[in-house]
Amino acid sequence: MHIHIFWDSLSPPGLQVPVTRKISSIIGVPATVSDNPVRMMGYVEGRKQIDAKVLLDGIHAYKRRHFMKEPLLLVVQQDLFKNGNSFVFGLARQSIGAAVVSTARLSNEYYGRDGNDDDLIDRITKEGTHEVGHLLGLGHCNNKECIMFKPDTLDELDRKKKMLCQTCREQLAGALLED
Ligand SMILES: [Zn+2]
Ligand SMILES: [Zn+2]
Repeated sequence: MHIHIFWDSLSPPGLQVPVTRKISSIIGVPATVSDNPVRMMGYVEGRKQIDAKVLLDGIHAYKRRHFMKEPLLLVVQQDLFKNGNSFVFGLARQSIGAAVVSTARLSNEYYGRDGNDDDLIDRITKEGTHEVGHLLGLGHCNNKECIMFKPDTLDELDRKKKMLCQTCREQLAGALLED
C-alpha cells in the first residue's frame, strides 16, 4: 500500500513535503507527492468554483490510463462544490480510490486573518488525511477531535486533532490487514 499525492501548480508552494510526511505518519502508510499531471476539469465560471465530482471523473480517467490502483489524493487551490452544497473542503470516491481537497478555505487570509504556514499545513493535513481515510474504508466519526469527524466550519476543522481516534485507528488497521 502506498498513497500518491498530486499537488496542483496553484496550490500553496513549499508545503507539499511537510503535508505528505504528516499524512503518511497519521495513516501509517508510505506516501509520495509529485506535481499534478491531471488536467483540471469541472470549473464553473458562474460560481468561480470547481465541481468536485467532475474533477474526480477526470482523476478516474487519469488513473485508468496509467493503471494506478493505489489511493490518490489531489490537492488544488480552487474552491470546490458539489451538487447541493455551496462548497466542500474535499471529496472522496472510494470506488475509484481518488479524492480531492481544496486549500481555498483553509488559509487564514480567506477569513481576513494574518496568514500562517503552520496553520495551513495543519489544515491541509487534516483534510487530506480525512479524505484518504475514506479511500481506505473509514466513514465519518462522531468524535469531534478525530480526523474522521466531518467539519462544516473552519473552527470545527481546527478543533480536530491530527490523529485518528482509537475506534477509527482499529478499523483502519483491520482494513489495511485485509488489503
Ligand atoms: Zn468525510
Ligand atoms: Zn474516529
